[in-house]
Amino acid sequence: MTARLIDGRARAARLLSEVAEATARLRAERDIQPGLAVVLVGQDPASEIYVNSKIRRTEEAGMRSIAHRLPAEVAEAELLALITRLNRDPQIHGILVQLPLPAPLDRARVIDAIAPEKDVDGFTAVNVGRLANGEPALVPCTPLGCLMLLEETLGDLRGQVATIIGCSNVVGRPLIQLLLQRDCSVMVAHRHTRNIAAMVRAADIVVVAAGVPNLVRGSWLKPGVVVLDVGINRLEGARGERRIVGDVAFEEALAVASAITPVPGGVGPMTIACLLANTLDACRRQIESAERSPVPA
Ligand code: NAD
Repeated sequence: MTARLIDGRARAARLLSEVAEATARLRAERDIQPGLAVVLVGQDPASEIYVNSKIRRTEEAGMRSIAHRLPAEVAEAELLALITRLNRDPQIHGILVQLPLPAPLDRARVIDAIAPEKDVDGFTAVNVGRLANGEPALVPCTPLGCLMLLEETLGDLRGQVATIIGCSNVVGRPLIQLLLQRDCSVMVAHRHTRNIAAMVRAADIVVVAAGVPNLVRGSWLKPGVVVLDVGINRLEGARGERRIVGDVAFEEALAVASAITPVPGGVGPMTIACLLANTLDACRRQIESAERSPVPA
């Protein structure tokens, strides 16, 4: 068997063009332009790259993009005051605080200052709780992208057995909830799990988000399994050449799986596309809620 490659770039491009079309309609019919504010604290080079590409994609989708760059030594009160202003700004529908935050800023306090209806990363305690309760929520972008790729590959996910490796708040934990909501049976492995190979072998779907190159071997996989490799690991070869690999021994897995995401070009492109889909979704919900309870003149 040679696995089919799950083309995340193509899926993300489709989603982005749907978002751009819907944005153009909102602007033409309602004169409303979805707005995304990105807050970057400090000068982490990787965060700079992520933020710049988010800004570029937001503008390409026809949305308003506002960036706030604050020095690493900013007082927490000042950062919280900025978030409060953005929460109240009717032209801003989504707010994203780029993580990680430099010490001593308190991640939970800062993230939970974002109004839940503008929390397009889905990281506030309110949205995490809503997702866990099966209520409508803004859902973290990478697991949302994973769900879309799985549904495109397998259709209805009911009854599938899924093993997720890695249970961070950003990827694994929200994906547990999303797959449970689709009536999958979900197993979760992490760095203290003793026999990951057995959990992987029992699964119809394997999602790996650990940040460990070659963690999952081809010999662990059940024939025909669908594999999503979320890991992004930057390696340097003997001659200094750089390359990016995932967490799965890709060539080995190709021979066993029915479908697999490549790295790069698999899950990665879905993340920004889902961020813009969340921003559009947040904007629509804010319009609906304003129409339900208009502010008296
Ligand atoms: P994290 O460090 O917050 O969490 C890693 C998780 O993997 C933890 O639950 C840990 O217990 C588990 N883990 C670590 N080593 C393990 C091992 N040897 N065996 C089993 N489990 C192990 O990381 P994260 O932020 O969730 O990111 C995970 C990976 O996904 C990273 O490579 C990251 O770059 C990548 N990532 C990609 C995207 C994307 O857009 N494609 C988005 C987020 C993260």
